[in-house]
Amino acid sequence: MIIEHFKYSVEGVVQGVGFRPFVYSLAQKHALKGFVLNDSVGVQIAVEGSSEDISFFEKDLYDKLPPLARIDSLKKEQCNIENFDSFKIVKSKNLQSKSSLVSPDFAMCDDCLNEMRDKHNRRFNYFFINCTNCGPRYSIVKTVPYDRPNTSMSSFVMCKECQKEYDNPTDRRYHAQPISCEICGPTLSLKDMNDKIISTNLNAIEDLANFIKDGHIVAMKGMGGFHLICDATNCKTIQMLRDKKNRPSKPFAVMLRSIEDIESVCSITDIEKSTVCSRDRPIVLLRTKPNNISPYVAPFIDRLGVFLPYTPLHVKLLDFLQHPIIATSANRSGEPIITNEEDLKAKLDDVVDYYLDYNRDIINSSDDTVLQVIAGKNLMMRASRGITPLSIKFNTKDKRKILAIGAHQKNAIAIYINNQLILSPFIGDLDNISTIDSFHKTLKTFIDFYDFEPDLIICDKHPLYETTKWAKKQNKPLVQVQHHYAHVLSCMFEHNLDEQVLGVAWDGTGYGDDGTIWGGEFFVCDRVKYERVAYFEPFLLLGGDASIKDIKRVALSIIFDNKDDVVYDSFLSKFSKSQLNLLKQIHEKRLNSPKCSAVGRLFDMVATVAGVCDVVSYDGESGLILESLYDENIKDSYDIYLDGKIIRYKHIIKDMIIDNNSKIIASKFINALAKIIVEISDTYNLKTLLSGGVFQNRTLVEKILEKKGSILFQSRLPINDGSIAVGQIISALSHKPTLP
Ligand SMILES: [Zn+2]
Ligand SMILES: [Zn+2]
Repeated sequence: MIIEHFKYSVEGVVQGVGFRPFVYSLAQKHALKGFVLNDSVGVQIAVEGSSEDISFFEKDLYDKLPPLARIDSLKKEQCNIENFDSFKIVKSKNLQSKSSLVSPDFAMCDDCLNEMRDKHNRRFNYFFINCTNCGPRYSIVKTVPYDRPNTSMSSFVMCKECQKEYDNPTDRRYHAQPISCEICGPTLSLKDMNDKIISTNLNAIEDLANFIKDGHIVAMKGMGGFHLICDATNCKTIQMLRDKKNRPSKPFAVMLRSIEDIESVCSITDIEKSTVCSRDRPIVLLRTKPNNISPYVAPFIDRLGVFLPYTPLHVKLLDFLQHPIIATSANRSGEPIITNEEDLKAKLDDVVDYYLDYNRDIINSSDDTVLQVIAGKNLMMRASRGITPLSIKFNTKDKRKILAIGAHQKNAIAIYINNQLILSPFIGDLDNISTIDSFHKTLKTFIDFYDFEPDLIICDKHPLYETTKWAKKQNKPLVQVQHHYAHVLSCMFEHNLDEQVLGVAWDGTGYGDDGTIWGGEFFVCDRVKYERVAYFEPFLLLGGDASIKDIKRVALSIIFDNKDDVVYDSFLSKFSKSQLNLLKQIHEKRLNSPKCSAVGRLFDMVATVAGVCDVVSYDGESGLILESLYDENIKDSYDIYLDGKIIRYKHIIKDMIIDNNSKIIASKFINALAKIIVEISDTYNLKTLLSGGVFQNRTLVEKILEKKGSILFQSRLPINDGSIAVGQIISALSHKPTLP
């Protein structure tokens, strides 16, 4: 028998996910000698054995991969070391350059759930149970490599039992960095806002459940930050939460104990069920059915964001409670999620009655991921816990290190290094100091993790974005990319397209090449250039940002543009005489009234003319309300048409006033938008791609796909501004990027 020797360099998600013990067990199975170790880019393996055994080993490496691991590349070469006496897991090499990937946090696995429920297991009821297949990663890691001393578990000394498991290559907890048990792990304490400790550990969870039952608003430290929690059936408490948070109508997500409980409150398809139950445990937007959830949770809309408990702590809480809860990121309105008790007390002292804390630090914050399922595919709305940091390996010859800093709203950053793109968790809207701080912190984290010194920075073209201002100060080569082009590029990348496409980018706002506000774009483009082939006729955004909240102004501005004899009395009565005069002057003299052609604003216009909403309190509110009014039986549409390059729609405001029925108006408008996309798509022999926040409107996307099923939409990456950073990176690559 000929003995062969090979060395493998494996890259991908291979650290902190049980990869080395997996390799160890395969080596045992196939009677191979050698070693496995973590290095700066991934894992190195050396094997010695018969060629047959080695080929089985290689096959199993791919076929039997642990659930959280992912092999992006595997380089094989002859190995010149021989005569190993066994197969060993070797301690991590001292790492020079840092580019091994950091995994996102994962929901508790079934093995851990079963152990937690097993009276005879030593981790029965243990609220921080985890293993190499589940539990925290990104939220506890200070630096790479992902080893215990580099995490916020470093201060906890393992007990003998835990150490034994940690050291045993055949144990599910071999090198599970956050391994602990009730004897040696972090402890829980329930406190009131005066620092009085009410109870600890399991009792604390039970007491917290009782406070929720009694109608209190509480906070609980979860995986990537604190949640604000209250009873999702108690209208009085929810109204109190809305008042205290100054959050009049933005929907809250609801956490339910089981998939059966979710089925009792929402309609859910099989695909949606598997998404809800996946190990990412995202918040999934579902259509509600009559239920006992308070209407105050998601007022005026027929959707509900639901999710299942994803940490042992959440599971135990719902075991005690047996009741749906609102679980929303604890923050001050518009600010990042709170990760420590000092901030919680400083910022939410007047909101929260009690809070459950534990003594392990959250190093990196993350929010819950939000998505919906359309036509059997995910449509990502917020990529965070469970998903990001998201690394995507692809083929290109570009050797530079590139930093893309995204847009202003729903900011996330991305880096390109060693043929891979890494997208950060959702950061937020950079409208306040705290979120801007969070942007800087995320930048620093990524630069530290990956020893990253960019050769090139990419930002948006908007001169007033915080990101643009920051980029211009860095003294590095800088490229600015048009916002909607970045949308289309990120969508092209996701669908592995490097050809000419028709990109449809619709959102609420984005800086156009002519200095006006764009957001109703049809681009014929490839990875190098774009041409704006169709767009919505611009209108004046009266008073600029004032029109974003006071959406009546959008309709009024278009009425002023129409200059015809139709009587708009019923609509105009929404304004006082003096207001009307003032706005008329603003319109005539174009005072502080930028030109805008964004479709997001047209939803505002329609909602206000339909009489269902005059002032919005959160981004996308008018679209959600119109969607809930949509009537499948109404097949008519308003006459929106292409005139040269310009899409004409301003006249439909008359028809809407004549229709005078919110359901008819909403339905005919959504039908008209679907129709114009398909009409324009049909005039090009190109793939049509949808990206931009407007397409979070499920009904709109469904109607488009009903008419033309070949149209592609952004799915895996956020369809809104959360993936602008990805598009920015793609625009900068000098060589064609292709997914393997
Ligand atoms: Zn587990
Ligand atoms: Zn222990």
